[in-house]
Amino acid sequence: MSKKVDKLNAQLESALSEFISQISGKTEDSAKTIATKFLNQIENKLNFEKKTIESIFSELNGVEHNQPIYINEIPFISFCEHHMFPFFGHVSIAVLPKKHIIGFSKFSDLVNNLSSNLTLQEKFTEEISQLIYSNLDCDGVHVKVKAKHLCSDLLSPENAIGDITTTFSTGIYELDSSLRAEASLNMG
Ligand SMILES: [Zn+2]
Repeated sequence: MSKKVDKLNAQLESALSEFISQISGKTEDSAKTIATKFLNQIENKLNFEKKTIESIFSELNGVEHNQPIYINEIPFISFCEHHMFPFFGHVSIAVLPKKHIIGFSKFSDLVNNLSSNLTLQEKFTEEISQLIYSNLDCDGVHVKVKAKHLCSDLLSPENAIGDITTTFSTGIYELDSSLRAEASLNMG
């Protein structure tokens, strides 16, 4: 890390530590520990070493299959780009491959990559669907994301909301409502 970034981190840590101490009454030492851990967690999440798109989509699992496959409830945690508060939940993916598919764990790699950003649930859902559709030889992709948003509950508890579900269809799933319905039945 550069000296400039180190200096910025030190300034940020010191300011955050003072802020925590003032709002919580914690001692200077424990406020500093909280500030350090908090900043490390954010940095580790957003600086997560991502797998390249090429490496995710180049390793086919070698099995021929041209019927729908459902990869259900991949867990994720991300940060909303409006408030930098966590939103977290599960991603379920339906894919209709033409012939081959990637190893199932590669879908988790893709979800980890895309969740390690400041993003929005709608954007995150669309990106997963579009990236699979444009990189895998398939007829269509349908993605469903179910998540809880801490920003909505913490910032306005009087208007607390439950889970939010978003979907995004590409290819044949965008055109064929019966395929989408079949996917919904099989997805978590
Ligand atoms: Zn938010």
